[in-house]
This record gives sequence, structure tokens and C-alpha cells, in this order.
Amino acid sequence: MHIINNYIDGKTVKISSGRTSDVFNPASGKIIAKVGLSSTEDVDFAVAKAKSAFESWSKITPLKRSRIMNRFRDLLEQNTDEMAALISREHGKVHSDALGEVIRGLEVVEFACGAPHLLKGEMSENVGTDIDSHSLRQPLGVVAGITPFNFPAMVPMWMFPIALACGNTFILKPSERDPSIAIYYAKLMTEAGFPDGVFNVVQGDKSAVDGLLKHPDIKAVSFVGSTPIAKYIYEIGSAHGKRVQALGGAKNHMLVMPDADMEAAVNGLMGAAYGSAGERCMAISVVIAVGDDVAEKLKKAITSSLSSLKIGPGTDPNAEMGPLINQQHLERVEKYIHSGVNQGAELVVDGREFKMDKEGYENGFFLGGTFFDNVTSEMKIYKEEIFGPVLSMVRVADFEEAVRLINNHEFGNGTSIFTRDGDSARTFAHNIQAGMVGINIPIPVPMAFHSFGGWKSSLFGINHMHGTDGIRFYTQLKTITTKWPKGIRSGNEFIMPTMD
Ligand code: NAD
Repeated sequence: MHIINNYIDGKTVKISSGRTSDVFNPASGKIIAKVGLSSTEDVDFAVAKAKSAFESWSKITPLKRSRIMNRFRDLLEQNTDEMAALISREHGKVHSDALGEVIRGLEVVEFACGAPHLLKGEMSENVGTDIDSHSLRQPLGVVAGITPFNFPAMVPMWMFPIALACGNTFILKPSERDPSIAIYYAKLMTEAGFPDGVFNVVQGDKSAVDGLLKHPDIKAVSFVGSTPIAKYIYEIGSAHGKRVQALGGAKNHMLVMPDADMEAAVNGLMGAAYGSAGERCMAISVVIAVGDDVAEKLKKAITSSLSSLKIGPGTDPNAEMGPLINQQHLERVEKYIHSGVNQGAELVVDGREFKMDKEGYENGFFLGGTFFDNVTSEMKIYKEEIFGPVLSMVRVADFEEAVRLINNHEFGNGTSIFTRDGDSARTFAHNIQAGMVGINIPIPVPMAFHSFGGWKSSLFGINHMHGTDGIRFYTQLKTITTKWPKGIRSGNEFIMPTMD
């Protein structure tokens, strides 16, 4: 059986712990590889190599770093198809969706190519008589990224291109459920000319994560994953003196107003709720219908669209939705459906009835698209993140009730409104408690030059990812105040300096 190992200092390195975890093809349900689970010693080895690489990488001019990043960008572009196939094989998402993920990651690489511009400091002349001040942004050192299974290419690319462009060296701990793609782009990075040790991949589970969180030479940790783990990462990382940004789970609501373009709303909703089998942190899992008329229209359209949803393996070019990541997760999502029924929600379409009959895929982790109506805010299926193809509809009387509902929810990642009314849209954007807002856009994922992040239990820390917030996260500010001999006064100065 193929064993997936670490990539450290420009080469594949065998994991010493002897522990492994199974990697599945979710479409066939078969084990296709094993991934090594690093020990603290494996982590220490990677950190030592990254620390030694930092000495020279941080001193290379930003422009030279940017040129290497540009070559990496070209290699990514040449290999998008192969990357998408690899993602699809271990994650299960359909090829076109995997391709989209690579492109969104590539856009951050493109943004990072322009880092020299963003690393320019500020300068003030004559802050005092003959005294000038200027500020610089300098790299932190070795930084780490810990990432989830659902975007094995894009989420790491929210992090490392910017961290590296700023002069840091990086250790990625990808999800143990789809670990191969990280090794793939690590090799591309070596080919692009990144010096050995600048980008390293450490495979593993909690042991590897704890090794990174507690290591004194790791200066910052970026995390994306579920909320309980995000909170843990934030607390342990901060307690060990690190800068931490930890993005957690979500429950994204889409509000449909009576004046909305219903066709656009339903089209957007179907992709946002069921694309990638709902395993997206920006998936819409709750639709709020303002008024029963809107609710009935949505119910009819969603039910009809679900009857023609094409479910299949990622290799099927016609498939619109693939399987879930593994059997355990499939059972977890099925339990939520069960709980929705028990708590009195109306199960309009039951995805548990779906059976995959395509030869070779009968044991895949497939679940059909599921739709609940008359969901209320006390139900478990409303309160918790399900992370599967399950959409809940909540009926409300008016706009104000909808806003209250969204604002009272534990999570605040993304949200959207469908309306033709500018007043409602503006009031919504202004008052809603979420980090990313879409107006007639179902999944408002910001472009690479803006920043990605939620509010409330969807993010622990201050900085969002990529964009200028990414540059701030991966650099530390230094302000230098200068006086040349002409301005130097004679004699000792014991008083608190003031600039006059
Ligand atoms: P997860 O929290 O289980 O795992 C994320 C990472 O943490 C993995 O690398 C994993 O190995 C590690 N990990 C797991 N358990 C750990 C533990 N006990 N101690 C230390 N490390 C541990 O998340 P997942 O299931 O891989 O991904 C799905 C979750 O990620 C969903 O909740 C989803 O909303 C969230 N997510 C959020 C965003 C966002 O931007 N907010 C983006 C993508 C995914």
C-alpha cells in the first residue's frame, strides 16, 4: 500500500512514528493509500529545517521572492487538471468543482506575487525638528498552517503564498483525510525554485498539531477547520506565545425577500447548498423565506431541482455532486436528518433514499440532497453545522425577524440576501453580524486581494486570511525614528523625549 510521507527540506522524508491513517477514495469507498502520522520528533525536524532556511529566505529581496512565486504560479496553471483529479480522488468532489478550488488558490498566489508593493512601509518627514520616522513590515520566522479536508488545495493557498512572499518559511499540516495534494504542490514549489526548507509538509493528526502549537520556534499559526478545534488551536497557540488566526465552522443563511428574482435565488441556492455535497464552510445550509408565498415558491422549485440533481463520482463529467468524505461523516449527517424528523421539521426530500448503482461505486459515501421545511431555531439541525447536503428552510414574517435570526446564531461566517430593493440590501449589509455578505450572490467568497474570514464562533483571532490582512498577519511592524548629526543637541537628555 502506498504510504504518503512528509516533504521537508526539498525532499520526501519518511515519517518515524510508525503510525498511519487510511486514505479513502470516497466515491468507491476503498482505501487507496495510508498517510503517516508524524510524531513530535518529525515536527521538530521540519521546524529545524524551516528555521535554518529562514536565515537566507528572509534576506532575499522581496522582488526575487516574487519571481520564484511567479514561476510557481505558472506551474500551477500548467497542472490544474492533474491537481483537480488528485483532489477529486481523495476528497470526492466533482472534477469541475476541484478545478474551481485550484483556480481560487492560484489567485492568492497571483496576489502574493505583488507582495513587494504591500511590504512598502510608511514614511513621515519631520515628525520633530530634523527627525524622520519610517515603518517596516518584517517577517516573523517559521510559521505553520493547519488545514481541513474540504479544500485541500485552496485553504493552504490562502496561507503559504502570502507567508512566503513576506519572507517567512512555512510548515503545512494538511488534513490526514486528503493529504496527497500538499505533497504535489510542495514538489512544484521545489521545481519553481523555492530553496529547500522554505516550504515543508508535515502529515499527521493531533500529535503533529500539538507539536507545532507548542514549539518555541513557530511564531504564528494559521488554522482552518471546525469550531471546537479552532478554539483549541487559538487557546493553546496563544498560550505558547504565538500569533494565531483560527477560522472555524459555519451555518450560513440566505435570506429571500418577496421581491427577489426567484429563478436567480433558486439557481444560486442549489449550487450553494448542494455543491461539494455541502462540505463547504461557505455553503448555504439555511434559507430564510420571508412570507409563506416565498416559502411555497422555494419549496416547489427546490424539490423539483433536487429530483434532477446528478450525483456521481468526481470522474463522471456529468455529476454535479459527489460523495461525502468518509463513512463516519456520512453516518453523522444521516443522524442529523433523523434528529430533524424527530424534532418536528418537515422532511420534504430525504437524501437517505438515494442509492448509488454505478458499478464500482456502490460502496461510496453517497447521500442524496436533503431538504427540510418548517425548521425552527430550537432544532439541532438549525443550531449545529451539519456539513452535508442538507438544506433547512425557516419561514419568517418579515425582514426584521430574519435579521434577528441570523444575528442570534452562534456562527457568523457568510450570509446573503436576494432582493431587488436597495434599502433592504443596504440595511442587511450594514446590520448583519457576519464576516462576508452577499447581495444577490449566494456564496460571497472574497477575491484574493480582499480578505476571507467570519465573525463570532467562525473566527478566533483578529486577522482574516489573504488580502492585506494576510500581509499584516505574517509580518511584524517596526517603526524607526531617525535624527542625523545636524539635529543632535549637545549634553545628556534625561527628560521624556517629545517631538518639537
Ligand atoms: P477538523 O477541525 O476536524 O480538522 C481540521 C484540522 O485540524 C486537520 O488538519 C486535523 O488534522 C486537525 N485536527 C483535528 N482534530 C484535532 C485535534 N483534536 N487536535 C488538534 N488538531 C486536530 O475539520 P475538518 O473536518 O477537516 O473540516 C471541516 C470543518 O472546517 C468544518 O467545520 C468547516 O466549516 C470548517 N472550515 C472552515 C472554513 C472557514 O473559512 N471558516 C473553511 C473550510 C472549512
